[in-house]
Amino acid sequence: MSNQIQNTQEVHNRSDLHKVTPSGYNVFDVQSGVSGKTYKVVISHDRTSATCNCKWGTTRGRMTGWKSACAHAQSVFEFLANQDGRTVSAWNNPDAASRQHRPTIKIGDGVTLTSRKVFEKPRKSEAQLLIELGY
Ligand SMILES: [Zn+2]
Repeated sequence: MSNQIQNTQEVHNRSDLHKVTPSGYNVFDVQSGVSGKTYKVVISHDRTSATCNCKWGTTRGRMTGWKSACAHAQSVFEFLANQDGRTVSAWNNPDAASRQHRPTIKIGDGVTLTSRKVFEKPRKSEAQLLIELGY
């Protein structure tokens, strides 16, 4: 089995379907939006890697230092980023990730996450709205 996740974006998109509930210090229950099963994800103290008790996560073993970049782990990283007003993108190409010039973490399985602040659209001024409405 390859120890790299190739379909990084697809896995990351799938992570959006999962429901994350904190259940302890750096421990999270992740309910799969696909299967309905709940998995336990434990984040490292420095929040740069995770383990998961799903099939993928438990087969990572020693060769990856028990790092799992499964969709469940990614959904926890997304959850943590959201708490800081940030959102996460996933890359399987470290060069592409570094070109983003954003904070990055390598979570294992060849997956690099970058995070960026969620862009909030500036509110339009009243004058701008009047111009757009043709006044
Ligand atoms: Zn998992």
